[in-house]
Amino acid sequence: MQRKVRKIVIVGGGTAGWMTAAALARMSTGMKYSIELIESDEIGIVGVGEATIPPICDFNRSMKIDENEFMRATQASFKLGIEFVDWHRLGESYIHPFGFYGVQMHGIYFHHFWLRHRAQGGSMPPEVFNQNIMACRQGRFGKILPTDMLPIAQVAYAYHFDAGLYAAFLRRLAEADGVRRIEGKIVSVQQNGEDGFIESVKLADGREVAGDLFIDCSGFRGLLIEQTLHAGYEDWREWLPCDRAMAVPCERVSATTPYTRSTSREAGWQWRIPLQHRTGNGYVYCSEYLSDDEAASKLLGRLDGAALAAPRPLRFVAGRRKEVWKKNVVALGLASGFLEPLESTSIHLIQAMIARLLFFFPGDGIDQATIDRFNLLARAELEEIRDLLVLHYMATERDDTPFWRHCRAISRPESLRLRWDMYEQNGGIFIEPSVLFKEPSWFAIFEGQGVRPRSYHPFADIPSDEELARRFALMSGDVQKRVATFPMHDDYIRAHCAAPPMMKEKMA
Ligand SMILES: Cc1cc2nc3c(=O)[nH]c(=O)nc-3n(C[C@H](O)[C@H](O)[C@H](O)COP(=O)(O)OP(=O)(O)OC[C@H]3O[C@@H](n4cnc5c(N)ncnc54)[C@H](O)[C@@H]3O)c2cc1C
Repeated sequence: MQRKVRKIVIVGGGTAGWMTAAALARMSTGMKYSIELIESDEIGIVGVGEATIPPICDFNRSMKIDENEFMRATQASFKLGIEFVDWHRLGESYIHPFGFYGVQMHGIYFHHFWLRHRAQGGSMPPEVFNQNIMACRQGRFGKILPTDMLPIAQVAYAYHFDAGLYAAFLRRLAEADGVRRIEGKIVSVQQNGEDGFIESVKLADGREVAGDLFIDCSGFRGLLIEQTLHAGYEDWREWLPCDRAMAVPCERVSATTPYTRSTSREAGWQWRIPLQHRTGNGYVYCSEYLSDDEAASKLLGRLDGAALAAPRPLRFVAGRRKEVWKKNVVALGLASGFLEPLESTSIHLIQAMIARLLFFFPGDGIDQATIDRFNLLARAELEEIRDLLVLHYMATERDDTPFWRHCRAISRPESLRLRWDMYEQNGGIFIEPSVLFKEPSWFAIFEGQGVRPRSYHPFADIPSDEELARRFALMSGDVQKRVATFPMHDDYIRAHCAAPPMMKEKMA
């Protein structure tokens, strides 16, 4: 397409649509693009994305969003990691933390030294070297004070928030920055007769909205990318068999945990996400092994507090859109593919794709080389996350239900096999520079799921036994000292970012 991009049309006003609108409007200040967003109140949004990962803080910062204001507006709480309950064995739990264990020494990751410690019969668990895990266990949250001189990195954290409120919050920013919202249902799409590029969309009331670049944030249906351009979908159910979720909010009844909880269940797993005004819950399951009615009744029977709504069923197919950018359409959010929220990655993927779109933003026209690069990067990003999710299902000793026996028999994607075999051999974790999940994440999940390496890096033997014991005592002591300075999570929220009580009542 040789014409310059002047007018951008975003189809969809869920989390993806409003994140995109707000970011495009703010980042392109001075470029005088016209940005319009179409959403349909009749269709509505998915709105259950509530748990995030640390890069969301960068997104908000880049948008110059005040953290406390955002927390109040979205009923948010802080998140330091995810607790996985019953995933390795029934009765066991571990935490996948954001942030590092210990410190690197002799140019190698800390976990090699810990593997040596265990091989020598040591009894210190890895979690005592990680401030996030220790803070989770104690229900604390804090940030490093300027007076803190401990040699441990800043606390890596993310948020739990109400996705509907977040979209509304971003909508206010986007509209203030000039985005025009159009309410209406798209009923047809007009393409250029020669190259098939999309020229305009038509609404049910007859209005027509034309554009140069279309961002498809229409959710699972992929109105432009799939229903119009037929980009194709790669189905990953052979690795990730869950294809349904039942979601229900409930009353909050206890202290706000600074972490998400994921509990493995008979045919999938259950999430628990604490917000200020309620707790979000859901059961992600495989329809081959559990009916919707059974899922709803099991979920309702396992809530902390009284349900605040009827359970809401959602259907999905794990996988990815083969081309997330095709012609003059870029798909973001659920329109681009879906991986279950086991590691809370969907909102992050929206953010990552927005950043990439800004990086590759078309100037004089849209060229295929840029499109190809964009699609390759999107694919690699999703495959990495897929592998991490598959690891949870496959590295388990659970074999007590047909679903778990099915999972144990899944054949690993080749990219996961390479990672897994290397870790089992010598504790090696190789991290490509661009990957999302770094060494602590892979270590936490390998270790938590019971994958035991046969050896560790030879350099881990460099310090003497006494020296290693001294360093371990120092590191775990520093973690303890740091965490002791953090207030309880609820006290932190009360002091900085509690939503006003009136709003709480309205939201519940
Ligand atoms: C069960 C489940 C749990 C999840 N949990 C998490 C989580 O914990 N963390 C996380 O990061 N992510 C999570 N996600 C993902 C997260 O919910 C989505 O990434 C996020 O909501 C983005 O959705 P979306 O904006 O792409 O689509 P949607 O919310 O579906 O929005 C689609 C928009 O398109 C509009 N639209 C569609 N068709 C038309 C039409 N014909 N005309 C006009 N407008 C139209 C709709 O009106 C709507 O505004 C979860 C998803 C599911 C399914």
